[in-house]
Amino acid sequence: MGDVTILKFGGTSVADAAAFTRVVTIVRRHGGPRPVVVVSALAGMTDALFAGAAAGAEGDVARAGRIVADQLDRHAGVGRSLLSGDAAVSFHDQLAQARQELAGLLDGLAGRVGDAAALRDEIVSYGERLSSSLLAGALAAAGVATRVVDARRCVITDETHGGATPLPADTECRMRAELVPLLEAALVPVLAGYIAATLSGRTTTLGRGGSDYTAALVGAALDAREIQIWTDVSGVLTADPRVVPSARPIPRLSYAEAAELAYFGAKVLHPKTIEPATARQIPVRICNSLAPDDPGTVVAADAAVWPGAVKAIAHKTGLTVLQIASTRMLGAYGFLRALFEVFDRHRTVVDVVTTSEVSVSLTLEDARALPAIVSELRALGEVSVEPHRAIVCVVGEGLRTTPGIAARIFTTIQDINVSLISQGASRVNLTFVVAEDRVYEAVRRLHEACFERERASTGGDAAIGRAAS
Ligand code: ADP
Ligand code: ASP
Ligand code: MG
Repeated sequence: MGDVTILKFGGTSVADAAAFTRVVTIVRRHGGPRPVVVVSALAGMTDALFAGAAAGAEGDVARAGRIVADQLDRHAGVGRSLLSGDAAVSFHDQLAQARQELAGLLDGLAGRVGDAAALRDEIVSYGERLSSSLLAGALAAAGVATRVVDARRCVITDETHGGATPLPADTECRMRAELVPLLEAALVPVLAGYIAATLSGRTTTLGRGGSDYTAALVGAALDAREIQIWTDVSGVLTADPRVVPSARPIPRLSYAEAAELAYFGAKVLHPKTIEPATARQIPVRICNSLAPDDPGTVVAADAAVWPGAVKAIAHKTGLTVLQIASTRMLGAYGFLRALFEVFDRHRTVVDVVTTSEVSVSLTLEDARALPAIVSELRALGEVSVEPHRAIVCVVGEGLRTTPGIAARIFTTIQDINVSLISQGASRVNLTFVVAEDRVYEAVRRLHEACFERERASTGGDAAIGRAAS
């Protein structure tokens, strides 16, 4: 279906009744002939449900109940503003049922009845289940013929609660079976992002921020013409705006550039979003629901090389660096296999790896299994552990082939200790590790050197202006 447009709205785009009203206008204006809508939970709802679940798990059922009740009251208020007649009654009933079911699930967590991770997924799923009903109601109230689709009938995953992996064939098949008949009947499907189910029907989730990924999976299954990610910034910016307030939108990124940025910390896109879009060559557009006419960022197969090559700087904190040194590595094979098998056994993802003749350094984000990993690695060599590290990732097509970039970058932050430099593994990034307490400073200085000085010296938006053309 070449004329399908996926529109995904993040939590801040559906924070309150006024935000829902803006979303309805966006679906009408930007959804093309066949829109499919994917929606996140209301801003703050997923955090609150996790907090409620944590309180429940600690046995504080009263506090858990209060957290959940506040959120449900908030939904009731949004419902009262947006819905009337039968739709209002049916949403009221859905809230009453959610109240009852959530109380049972929180009791289950407190009494340790059942698998806690599975219960947590069930609890947090109410965020998207309620927001999708509200959005479908708001669209219907505005005269858009719509239908809520339970995402758990469409996105089928393995059983890894909290961060499940979709089963591609089942997901594509179910997605088409659920959505194509609705599109053929000229109805606008509204799906919850983030939530999914196993083949046996148990609720799972795709990991925090996973609604972007749902949108990409829907887009791939329907061979959409475009996947639009509507958020609270006007596209992917040259750096995280919370760290660099002067960061600016990037008009166009290649899939490779966007994937690296998302993976190395640009929260605006869930790291797995780009893969399904790349597989089907579907453009992904990142837009601002508060400024819908801003051009945003288009992510597609090709993108220009910018003067100076750097297009954005991402960063990710909370990492641990491990170094394993062993002279047994010299001239031996099988060492790296044995080393990575340790991480495999503990289901721990390694982000960046560098090697010398006698040592391997690598970064981990998930340090839950660290003690066990370190004790197994000691059988292979000497192990050192550096906590509180951060990755900085400089991204741009042409980075590998533009002379002088590494020198410019490292001169800019020459008084900050840099370790684990990786360039060339991908054609579009240069990645390195610094101490966590210096990372903001490193990012700000690099941003100034790569973008702001250039702009100041030309009196205009030199790099960005030329790249957009
Ligand atoms: P949503 O609720 O719409 O999914 P998110 O909070 O997940 O929104 O993502 C948008 C946020 O990502 C922005 O408000 C911004 O603070 C943060 N962000 C981090 N890095 C970047 C970047 N390079 N470009 C744009 N936004 C970024
Ligand atoms: N509501 C989920 C979260 O807060 C998913 C998302 O927003 O993409 O993580
Ligand atoms: Mg998000």
